[in-house]
Amino acid sequence: MEQIYFIRLKDIPSKGLNLAIDDQNIWLDPIREYELPYEIKEDFCVEVFIQVEGDCCILKGLLTGTIETLCDRCLEKAEVKIEDFFRIIERPKDRDSLDISFIVEQNGELYLDLKGLLWERFVLNIPQKILCKEDCMGLCPICGTNLNISRCNCGKDLGDPRLAIFRKIKILSEG
Ligand SMILES: [Zn+2]
Ligand SMILES: [Zn+2]
Repeated sequence: MEQIYFIRLKDIPSKGLNLAIDDQNIWLDPIREYELPYEIKEDFCVEVFIQVEGDCCILKGLLTGTIETLCDRCLEKAEVKIEDFFRIIERPKDRDSLDISFIVEQNGELYLDLKGLLWERFVLNIPQKILCKEDCMGLCPICGTNLNISRCNCGKDLGDPRLAIFRKIKILSEG
């Protein structure tokens, strides 16, 4: 782990520490490591102010950037723009707790794992369902036509092909 993102709490001045980070490896390393289908479309930037209070860190900042990935419905390219204003109080992990903490003890001293913390912010800002546009029509479940671009004949007799599964259920329960 890079030393610059692994900050000894003792080294953070009492008036706080201001950082502006544009190192894309913070994102590219875990994207590669976890083999995520993300590409950086617009560079990520972080501005963060860190203050120490006892064993805790108070972080206030802004994370911005854009990734390109695939639409969950039509599998075409989709962009996710991240603009995350965060305010976090990070505490060391309780001995019995299963929670993750980005304040880590090493050789009897406390460190802030800033890279881990920023990656968590990134992950929290990726929506569960990624769409190329809000009203993406997706693919025809029968022939695979991208319904945003053209139409197919599959749904003609069946009505909306996306509802075909429900019709099947209905027929089964009637019969
Ligand atoms: Zn789509
Ligand atoms: Zn079709």
